Amino acid sequence: MTEFDDLDSHVVREAASKSLVEHIFFQADKQISHEQGQALARIVIVSLISLFAMLHAAFDPHDGLSTAELTLGPAYALFSIVHYRWISTTPFAPHWRRYMVIVLDLAFTGYVTYAFGLGGLGFYPVFLWIVIGNGLRFGPRYLRLATLVGITSFGIATLLNGVLVAHPGVAIGLMLGLVLMPRLFLAMINRLADANQLLAHKKEEAEYQASHDVLTGLPNRAMLEDILHRAIAQAEREGTHLAVVFIDVDGFKSINDNFGHAAGDLLLKQVAHCLSGSIRGSDTVARLGGDEFIVLLESCGDAATVAAIVGQLFACVGRYYRIGHQETYVTWSCGVAVFPGDGRSASTLIKNADTAMYQAKAAGPNQYRLYDRAMSAEVAKQLELRESLRRGIDHAQFEVHYQPQVPLVDGRLRDVEALVRWRHPERGLLYPGEFIGTAEQTGLIVPIGYQVLEQALADARRWRDRGLGEIRVHVNISPHQLADAGFTDQLGALCGKYDWSPARLGLEITESMLIADMDSVGHVLARLRSQGFIISLDDFGTGFSSLAYLKSLPIDRLKIDRSFVRDIPEDAYDCTLVEATLMIGKQLGLGLIAEGVENNVQMDWLRERGCDQMQGFLFAPGLPVDELERVIGSPNDWPHA
Ligand code: C2E
Ligand code: CA
Ligand code: CA
Repeated sequence: MTEFDDLDSHVVREAASKSLVEHIFFQADKQISHEQGQALARIVIVSLISLFAMLHAAFDPHDGLSTAELTLGPAYALFSIVHYRWISTTPFAPHWRRYMVIVLDLAFTGYVTYAFGLGGLGFYPVFLWIVIGNGLRFGPRYLRLATLVGITSFGIATLLNGVLVAHPGVAIGLMLGLVLMPRLFLAMINRLADANQLLAHKKEEAEYQASHDVLTGLPNRAMLEDILHRAIAQAEREGTHLAVVFIDVDGFKSINDNFGHAAGDLLLKQVAHCLSGSIRGSDTVARLGGDEFIVLLESCGDAATVAAIVGQLFACVGRYYRIGHQETYVTWSCGVAVFPGDGRSASTLIKNADTAMYQAKAAGPNQYRLYDRAMSAEVAKQLELRESLRRGIDHAQFEVHYQPQVPLVDGRLRDVEALVRWRHPERGLLYPGEFIGTAEQTGLIVPIGYQVLEQALADARRWRDRGLGEIRVHVNISPHQLADAGFTDQLGALCGKYDWSPARLGLEITESMLIADMDSVGHVLARLRSQGFIISLDDFGTGFSSLAYLKSLPIDRLKIDRSFVRDIPEDAYDCTLVEATLMIGKQLGLGLIAEGVENNVQMDWLRERGCDQMQGFLFAPGLPVDELERVIGSPNDWPHA
């Protein structure tokens, strides 16, 4: 590789063709292409040369320029005009057009040098212009070739003319210049490109420094305000909320005093790092200066979401940070202001979050407060619920109740639905409505769901062992569980552990969840179904309810939601919907079950329309396991056909 090939890089070529030719020569008129510009310049120069030749002939008729020689200039000027037209009409001509022009240019200027002798050397810059100009446009590889051709024709011309013999010093000096100038130009342009890059880099750096905190690399107050303005505008447009969390590290001054400023800086960096790792992609952490940070949470309105993220932020405190050889326990105070309730402008939101932070600080270390009192209480409740859910999982406080799913044909119980209950140490028995939402939000539903599955299988196995028959248990499955890559294997392992056939394990998936992620959920369900598990579409009718869709879904059973059963037979709309569902479900060969059946009127109505199975308080609510065992073990008086 030569130095020239090195230069054949994108940057240099860009810089060379753009900055030099375009910026210097044709900056004013962007309509003209490089090639057109050069052609125009050629017309002017060739015309000047022709004029010079004619004047020369007129004033010195004995100097031996033949007519042919005198017409060469105007002829070439004419050619140049034609060439210009050609470029203008067909800008994307073949490659050889450029080379043809280059060779002709060199031949012409060589001839001029020959014809005018030392006088011709006056056109020496034309050589340079052609060699360098074209070389820069077509790339260094061409530059080398053009230099070579140029120097040959220039050499021959000066030799034929006698300049080389009469003034060898001048001729050789010019030739050397011809070799060196293009290289010098390239080197210069290379430098310019470098300098340009450096400048751009410096500018970027300056912009970064103006908007970022030097110590932590986080956005600074100025940038935060920018982001906040934008976020507020967006929230206003979309009618969403956002939360500004003001954080102040407790006792930072004493850390600085005891460990030194370098240690304090190190601590701030670590806290910043932890904060950045605890937020969602759409959120922003900024440092206001000192020990103050702000976390901006976008599209986050309800107490539960605020609680979720503030809860995560708290993982960054109430713990030890290592500073050099020492460790220091860090706490902080946190204030939250929510748009639009607590302020509609960036400055008000920050100010109110700050106020809330001071209230938190007064309450002790590691406290947070919301500017809005009512919301503050709600967030506190949510955070407390999360903590106790975690404890509940660790201490196995969840139990499973079973609700019979009664077949109308014979009333013999073969299916039950497993429903989770939380035996809370202080609050007593809690129903899913009080905790499932938070469990879903925190992902804690995954371990809870696993405990329910295991408990359900263990119970079912015990019933079988006691001779109560093989009851099929239907367990509610959360989207989080289905999204878990190991879920299918887990199910398989559990079935193996309790020697339980998948055909006796039902999985209830809510309709809305299936629609939300039809592709991946549909996939997992299809796989589970092929392994023999029974899939029920829960709460049917509350989601998209496109009956046409049903055909392609990997499901075995439809559970008609209790909201449609409730007003049977008074509500005509509900009746029509249930009738249609029953009809289509039957045609598709799906099992049909109505939930929430509470009275005989509903039961009769459904039975008349061929509903297979029913579940509801008319038969039994969710029962603790021992009560259910009694139900299975003794004959019942459930109505049946
Ligand atoms: P779901 O799957 O629709 O469960 C049926 C709910 O309807 C149960 O409420 C049940 O007690 C109630 N129910 C049954 N018959 C009647 C009736 O005749 N009238 C009325 N008004 N209600 C009736 P529960 O036990 O409070 O469960 C609520 C929801 O919590 C369940 O709705 C289910 O979506 C969820 N869930 C329960 N256990 C689990 C679980 O282990 N994992 C997951 N992911 N979710 C669960
Ligand atoms: Ca269910
Ligand atoms: Ca349901």
